[in-house]
Order: sequence, then structure tokens, then C-alpha cells
Amino acid sequence: MKLKFSVVSLNSCNGCISTLVSLDVFLNLVKSAELVYFPFIEDSDPTTVKEDAELEYSDVTLVEGCVTQTSEEELLKKLRKSSKKIIALGACAMFGGIESLSQSDRKEPVSKYIAIDGAIPGCPPPENVLGTSIIALLEGRTLPSAKKNLCSVCELRPELEKFKTIKVDKLHPEKFPTTCFLDENVLCLGPVTREGCDAKCIKMGLPCEGCMGPPEGLDYTANVINFLSTLELSDRLKKYEGVIFRLYRPRT
Ligand code: SF4
Ligand code: SF4
Repeated sequence: MKLKFSVVSLNSCNGCISTLVSLDVFLNLVKSAELVYFPFIEDSDPTTVKEDAELEYSDVTLVEGCVTQTSEEELLKKLRKSSKKIIALGACAMFGGIESLSQSDRKEPVSKYIAIDGAIPGCPPPENVLGTSIIALLEGRTLPSAKKNLCSVCELRPELEKFKTIKVDKLHPEKFPTTCFLDENVLCLGPVTREGCDAKCIKMGLPCEGCMGPPEGLDYTANVINFLSTLELSDRLKKYEGVIFRLYRPRT
């Protein structure tokens, strides 16, 4: 019997789901699973709360985006009742993500309202991480995770002991980096972020903003705060809320 899948968006840019439908593995999903609820491709309003009877049972429900309104909270609770596994898809669903920079008072991760059974990280999730995660879900295996941080695979990696004495006063580099961003006094969250994204931002000259979340088994909030406390942050960075905008606690 085919696995039943649902894919639902809360408040989001739809980037995670757009990435999903653009992958070859999406064809595997369509062929080997039954998509019972997927408003993004059904042309229906995802914020319309379905009645219990309308929500079919799902073996796996992927949820993209964060909660910004009551209808999304109610939808989540109904999905929890009708789904065997709920997986947070992307940084917004896991931590609040980019939405947390908005003026809205409410931008909460999925795990604030319901228990989740796992998460697929990234903003959007890297193709290899999303692809292997979908295959794992189709095969009933646990989601892949990473024990190492981004620095462990970063070409700019310095001696890590240096981090403790580094002064950080910038969010962006003045030139394309050839040494670790932290050496250039630019904040980079690589030390407390899991690897798996192929260091794409670093390779484009941008510091890591932590969208992949923590390495396996670590609490993101405590992890990032501990890391920031080892740096000498400038007053401007201490006040900049964006530095910690993803600091929600996932309940996985
Ligand atoms: S995690 Fe990134 S790509 Fe996914 S919905 Fe949020 S902002 Fe868009
Ligand atoms: S702090 Fe950033 S730039 Fe430095 S090694 Fe880690 S990921 Fe690379």
C-alpha cells in the first residue's frame, strides 16, 4: 500500500516547497506515495482551516513556514491529529527563520504548538539534504542528520582556538574573503551550524547565518548564545536583532 503524504505551507515564501517540486526525487514521491493534501499544487488556500472530516489520514506531513495567525495554529493541531509523522520543512518551520525579522509580533516555529517527529533543515533545504530526507521518509527510515559543524568542511577554516579572542563588529565582509570571516571581524555562525549545505554562502562570499540549524543533538539557542558569548561583539551587533533571529527552540 502507498504511503500517504501531505505537504502544507504556513506563513512562508514557499521556497522550501518550490525546491521540493523542482527535484527529481519529487517524481519518486508522486509515483510511490499518495499525495492526500497539497494545497500548493491544488490551487486551494492553505490558511483555510479544514474540518476534521476533510483532513485525510497521512503517514507523513511536511510543514513549511512558521505560525503567524490563529488559523495556522488550528490547522497544525488538526494536522497533528490526522498525521502519523509531522516533519518541519526548512528554517521557518524549525526556528521562525526569515519571518522572524518581520514586524509581526507572532512568528513561531511549528514545535511551539505541536510535537514534531523530525526536521529537514535549510533555507531552503539543500537539494541533497532534501532529496535524501524524502527518500528516507518514503523508505520509513529516520531522517539523515549531521554530527559536524560547517567549519569542519569550510575551505576558510582557521585554527578554532582563535575564535575565543576574536573581535566581531561586522555582518558583511568588505572584500571577497580568503580567510575565515571571523578573522575579518565578520560574524559567521559556521561554528554552531551543522554542515550539509556545501558551504554555498561561504563560497559566494557571505557568512553563515545558521539556517541549517545545529549539529545533531545540540540545542540551537543555547549553542548560539554560548558561541556569541565567546566573541567580543560590537555594540551595534549586540543590538542587531537579526543576529539571533533564528533562535527558537525546536522540539524534536
Ligand atoms: S525556510 Fe527559507 S525558503 Fe523555506 S519558506 Fe522559509 S524563507 Fe522560504
Ligand atoms: S567561522 Fe565561517 S568562515 Fe570561518 S571556518 Fe567557520 S564557516 Fe568558515
